[in-house]
Amino acid sequence: MSDKLIPIRDAADIIGCDFYALIRVIEYGDLMPAGMPADLDPRKKFWSRHLDDIRFSPEDIERFRYEINHRRKHVDFIQDYADILDFDTGPGSRTLEQGPGWDRLLCELGDGLRVLQRPDWRPKLYFSKEKFGCMQAHVSDFDRERRLPLDMLIERIRRKSLRTCEECGEPGRLRWGSFLKTTCDRHAFVVGTLREEDGKILDARMWRLGEDGKIEIVNRKRWSDEELGL
Ligand SMILES: [Zn+2]
Repeated sequence: MSDKLIPIRDAADIIGCDFYALIRVIEYGDLMPAGMPADLDPRKKFWSRHLDDIRFSPEDIERFRYEINHRRKHVDFIQDYADILDFDTGPGSRTLEQGPGWDRLLCELGDGLRVLQRPDWRPKLYFSKEKFGCMQAHVSDFDRERRLPLDMLIERIRRKSLRTCEECGEPGRLRWGSFLKTTCDRHAFVVGTLREEDGKILDARMWRLGEDGKIEIVNRKRWSDEELGL
C-alpha cells in the first residue's frame, strides 16, 4: 500500500472528528476510503480488529470531511430553513441528532412549519432527535389552543420516519436489535443480532406485554394515517 496514504487515526485528527465518528461512516455510510483492505467488510463482525490497516487518500479526507462535518450535521438544512429554527444555544443544548436518511423529513417539517407561521404565532423547531427508532421533533410553542395542526405535523413526520431508513432514506421499518433503529434491508445489520420483537412491533409506542407474557399490539394513535395525509 502506498506510503502516501494516511492511517485512519491520523485521518480523524486531520478531519477534526471523533475517531469513532469516522468508523461509523465507513460502517454505515456509502463512502469507502481508497486504502481499504480488499478482504475487509465493515458490515461483518470483527472488522474493527483491522482498523489500523485502513488508509485514506487526500481526496478521501475531503469526502469524509464533507460527510461528517457538513452532510451529517445537516448544514444545508440549517442554512435553508433558518427562519423556522430556534436552536437552544445554552450549555448541553441539542440541535439535530439524527441520521442523514431523514433529511427529506426535516425539509418536510420545515415546509410545514412555514405554512403554520402567523404574525402573532411563530412555532419554531428547537431540536430534533432519533428516539426509539423514530424522529421526534421538538417545537417551541406554548399556545395550547392553536397546537393541534402542529401536533399533527409532528406526528405525521414521526410516522413517516418509521418507514424511512435513517441512514439512506430508502423505505425501511423499525428494527429491534441491540438498540432500536429504522432501516432499510441493506442497513439492517447496523442493529446487530435481532431480538424477538423484530418484525412484530413496528412502532415502539404501540405495544404492551399481555398477561401471558406475549407481545400485544395496541392502538394509541390519536389520528389515523388518513387523517394525517399518509
Ligand atoms: Zn438504508
